Amino acid sequence: MKQNTHNLTGAALLHDPEWNKGTAFTAAERDALCLRGLLPPRVCTPEVQVQRVLGNFERKANDLDRYVYMIGLEDRNETLFYRVVIDHLDKMMPIIYTPTVGQGCQEYGHLFRRPRGLYISAEDRGRIAEVVANWPHDDVRVIVVTDGQRILGLGDLGANGMGIPVGKLSLYTACAGVHPSLTLPITLDVGTNNETLLADPLYIGLPQRRLQGEAYETLLAEFITAVSARYPHVLIQFEDFGTLNAFGLLEKYRNQVCCFNDDIQGTASVTLAGLYTALRITGKPLREQVLLFLGAGEAGTGIANLVVSALTEEGMDEAEARQRCWFVDTRGLVVSSRQDLAAYKRPFAHDHPFLPDFASAVESLRPTAIIGASGQPHMFTRPILAAMARLNERPIVFSLSNPTSKSECTAEEAYCWTDGRAIFASGSPFDPVTCSGQTFYPAQGNNAYIFPGVGLGVLVSGARLVTDEMFMVAAKTLAAEVEEEDLANGRIYPPLSKIREVSAKIGTAVATIAYERGLATMPHPKDLPAAIRAHMYEPVYPNYLGLE
Ligand code: NAD
Repeated sequence: MKQNTHNLTGAALLHDPEWNKGTAFTAAERDALCLRGLLPPRVCTPEVQVQRVLGNFERKANDLDRYVYMIGLEDRNETLFYRVVIDHLDKMMPIIYTPTVGQGCQEYGHLFRRPRGLYISAEDRGRIAEVVANWPHDDVRVIVVTDGQRILGLGDLGANGMGIPVGKLSLYTACAGVHPSLTLPITLDVGTNNETLLADPLYIGLPQRRLQGEAYETLLAEFITAVSARYPHVLIQFEDFGTLNAFGLLEKYRNQVCCFNDDIQGTASVTLAGLYTALRITGKPLREQVLLFLGAGEAGTGIANLVVSALTEEGMDEAEARQRCWFVDTRGLVVSSRQDLAAYKRPFAHDHPFLPDFASAVESLRPTAIIGASGQPHMFTRPILAAMARLNERPIVFSLSNPTSKSECTAEEAYCWTDGRAIFASGSPFDPVTCSGQTFYPAQGNNAYIFPGVGLGVLVSGARLVTDEMFMVAAKTLAAEVEEEDLANGRIYPPLSKIREVSAKIGTAVATIAYERGLATMPHPKDLPAAIRAHMYEPVYPNYLGLE
């Protein structure tokens, strides 16, 4: 646990978000800490402060204003920010993360008020260690880093992508209790190829085109060396990199440093968990499924690879397991006769006549599940969903593309075009839907169910590497947390209100793997679940006078 070793007083204390209590400083604290007169006289309880925040939050005209307001609160009073976020996760998650964070990133340069996180730019090459040394915290355990090339499904947003590492790390704290000071958001500003941003005088990044090839790779290598030197126990989460770089970086570094790619591995884990739960509804095992993916990128192939691992663990031959997963990309069905396939797609190129589009692939392959990870909206059309309902008693429809505007279909379309029989999950949240007199509660396949718990387990065990097995146990642990009552309402993930409990269990499961596989560097605690819980930060104000 972090020590309350502060020595701030007066205005400096009020302006330090980690230690500020705002109007909740007691009269005695105000005297002792030279705050008298610097705050309005009435002392507020934390509950009243929360009430004030919620009132302001509701009064904002739109979600982007709510995002700006919440970031501002995080900048002023971290404890209050996390109290509100944790206690109102359903309301806050779509604001501090997808979908609103997407708009936040698109307008980052225009909204810019105060810097958050660390920017490492192409101009810092040769002195990245100096830049990393400027970060004020000596103990950092989790870094989320992006180069802004593929922000959600919104494309290249360059340095504006900083909203993503900032948001993801807030979720580490809110969902798994990783102390905020142990987290470090980083944006690698390697340029942007986004013409609108390049022409925008308010753009916050270097107004130049992206580094590529060797220049890009040496910058990344220097970055990894610099952060590993200053923070030898850090977990590095790669986030929203362009597809080729994402696969390349993961391949290069996964056995060298403690790292993972959330778009590939975190998505895979949360989706596998959703499949496990959906199969409790259909009553059919994973080995009998035919999964058809739209989009053969990081998310899609990441999910398929984890499904293959799950099937081989059940005893299926790997080649047979791969046959359960099919892909349609921009050019059509991924088949062995195609010469245009990137290396990461080839393991899923099966012997089958080429088909030009998704609709014909549905008719030919008769999938039990369709999984959209294309970043393209409206691709699960009415005829496609009707075909899924014709082919399956309970068709599984996962429309994962983010933000909401990119979802392959809406929740309403998924339910209403399948006579209410779809088992549906989406990347961004949808409100409950009523069709044919029945109300459905759409599930969100939110990576936040997985990565914070995985990070917590890695942190407590001091795991040297992050393995696919850890994501597999995370998926199983998450699926096991879904209760019959959730299933009865069509919910294939637990309610967000349970997420800290879920993260604690995932953390325990992941740490257990680290200890069993000889990857842990921390001594095994006597009571691992208790040690995991003891690490979880609670947003409670320090009692300053008690410290003296
Ligand atoms: P990516 O760029 O790596 O992959 C997208 C793939 O879709 C590419 O292979 C592209 O060729 C293909 N594609 C594009 N248009 C297509 C079309 N019209 N038909 C068929 N294929 C098409 O991106 P990614 O990381 O895989 O992410 C894809 C989407 O999934 C994004 O919108 C992202 O936000 C979303 N996502 C959701 C979750 C989640 O729900 N938990 C997690 C990660 C990513």
